[in-house]
Amino acid sequence: MARRALITGITGQDGSYLAEHLLAEGYEVWGLVRGQSNPRVARLPKDIHLVRGDLLDQGSLISAVERVRPDEVYNLGAISFVPMSWEQAELTAEVTGMGVLRMLEAIRVCSSRGGEIRFYQASSSEMFGQVRETPQTEVTPFHPRSPYGVAKAYGHFLTQNYRESYGMYAVSGILFNHESPRRGAEFVTRKVSLGVARIKLGLATELRLGNLEARRDWGFAGDYVRAMHLMLQVGKPEDYVIGTGRTQSVRELVEAAFTAADLDWERHVIADQSLHRPAEVDLLCADPKKARTQLGWEPTVPFEELVAMMVESDLRLLSEGGDP
Ligand code: GDP
Repeated sequence: MARRALITGITGQDGSYLAEHLLAEGYEVWGLVRGQSNPRVARLPKDIHLVRGDLLDQGSLISAVERVRPDEVYNLGAISFVPMSWEQAELTAEVTGMGVLRMLEAIRVCSSRGGEIRFYQASSSEMFGQVRETPQTEVTPFHPRSPYGVAKAYGHFLTQNYRESYGMYAVSGILFNHESPRRGAEFVTRKVSLGVARIKLGLATELRLGNLEARRDWGFAGDYVRAMHLMLQVGKPEDYVIGTGRTQSVRELVEAAFTAADLDWERHVIADQSLHRPAEVDLLCADPKKARTQLGWEPTVPFEELVAMMVESDLRLLSEGGDP
């Protein structure tokens, strides 16, 4: 019988890549959806099953887990855009933080009636925030710098506590920034690739950005979902850092993206103070050694290739009149 996976956040970037990966691995894939009409649900592969539920509603999660009886649960659902977490801090705490508690409880209650359910929590490099050391590993202390980072740290420690207290197979992947043509338009990589495509096609002349000096470790989302799956296949449940081990600045991102479209970035980019954040995360860089040695995981798409892939995809999308 096919193994069953339940994914929260299935309509997001990672959810869609993970669903495709698990389908290719022979899984029966279920997505938790809130049930309101959402055009992104219609775009999911046809062989995905849907079950209703909401990370804000404990009873709905118990019903969903009881109905699907999954072997593996991937909790990717979250309010995930850092600036929005300042504007809606309480909602972020409820969905991104307390949502983890509700899902772990649903799994604990349902698995007490038999059958192990393995749990993957999408932890984030934003938990490192004002970094204590570089690069960051599985044992680097957290110092989050936004309500999003704080909520993710809560989910991370809770997952660890359910593993240690109840003996559950519950793990967190501490994923550094991961991007793709499916990345939400609010994140800087996609904002830049869409901005470049608009300028190239004569639909815009300028691109306004915030802090150009922030540095991130950017990888390809398609590589990162393989790591999520691998983490649930090993003998012992443990947390892993997933990233490339290399960093680029937002300025370098901009240069790479404009170069990919044969444009001069200095003629188009405007640094806008109003887009700076209340507290910034200046530098994130992963040390993914543990994932490499214990999971055999490697990233396959270098930074310049990732940026070019996103620019090309947005040029195609916009020239066909598509909706980002
Ligand atoms: P995050 O690392 O999850 O917050 O991912 P983002 O893609 O939203 O931001 C990455 C970095 O880019 C942050 O340090 C931002 O301050 C910086 N940045 C600079 N300009 C912009 C912008 O216009 N939009 C966004 N989203 N980020 C920007």
